[in-house]
Amino acid sequence: MSASIIDGKVISAAVRRKITEDTAAFVAETGITPHLAAVLVGDDPASQVYVRNKERACENCGLKSTLHRLPVDTTQQQLATLVAELNADGTVHGILVQLPLPKHLDSTPILDAILPGKDVDGFHPENVGLMLQGRPRFLPCTPHGVMKMLQHQNIDTAGKHAVVIGRSDIVGKPMAALLVQRGADATVTICHSRTADIAAICSQADILIAAVGIPEFVKGNMIKPGAVVIDVGINRLNDKLVGDVDYAEAVEIASAITPVPGGVGPMTIAMLLQNTLEAARQWSLLGK
Ligand code: NAD
Repeated sequence: MSASIIDGKVISAAVRRKITEDTAAFVAETGITPHLAAVLVGDDPASQVYVRNKERACENCGLKSTLHRLPVDTTQQQLATLVAELNADGTVHGILVQLPLPKHLDSTPILDAILPGKDVDGFHPENVGLMLQGRPRFLPCTPHGVMKMLQHQNIDTAGKHAVVIGRSDIVGKPMAALLVQRGADATVTICHSRTADIAAICSQADILIAAVGIPEFVKGNMIKPGAVVIDVGINRLNDKLVGDVDYAEAVEIASAITPVPGGVGPMTIAMLLQNTLEAARQWSLLGK
């Protein structure tokens, strides 16, 4: 039997409708329009598309967005100066530095320099620590989007074996951290590039989450019949977007699966908007 499709477009549209309502109520109450400042360095085509989609989503939900474009030869100091200006700008509530940065720039000090209260990507060490302790300020957008999808589909994670493939700071590690929190209560295994016999581990997963960055890495023989498969990957293969899961094989074995495109991607953007609204809300409370 074919898996049911977890439709990120439909779920994210519902989330964005709620954000639109909540934003309108917040603006009416406070006179403050939540404002996301995005920073794009260089001209990576995929990054340009991501930033444009984020800007458009902000506008559609009643949030303000400003794009700061910097040339590819921007220095570390110039980028740090812009972040400092955005930190100091009281009309900016969320700051997003689009990754990856050009190779000559070091993203770590830049992300560390963003005020934790404006860190709507949830990458600042203070926000990562709060998330790990189960008292989050902002949850990182992609793993949060995955959790929302699971909740929306009534997929219970408690007591389930969740296997996350990938250990990046952006997806894999926070994904595992959210699944293991009280309330989610999964038993979590993290696989990575040095994991031995990865197929055997993946095929024990009730919930398999792929964040590898290798097109169609997860084959049918790595999936337990009836498992839920979440494909975070976005890869270009022969001019087509494909995930980290071999969809044609997986759809015949899993009980539910996210497509690429139209799965996790739209959820990531919706969660960014939610964090920006939340940042504005927290900022408005500071003055009271
Ligand atoms: P990354 O390159 O930082 O991390 C990839 C991880 O995969 C690493 O931790 C590595 O250990 C692991 N890995 C690499 N080769 C492996 C192998 N052969 N076997 C097992 N593990 C292996 O990537 P990332 O930023 O975590 O992104 C992962 C994927 O998710 C990419 O395709 C990226 O484009 C996509 N992504 C999608 C969204 C979204 O909104 N849908 C957001 C962020 C990233």
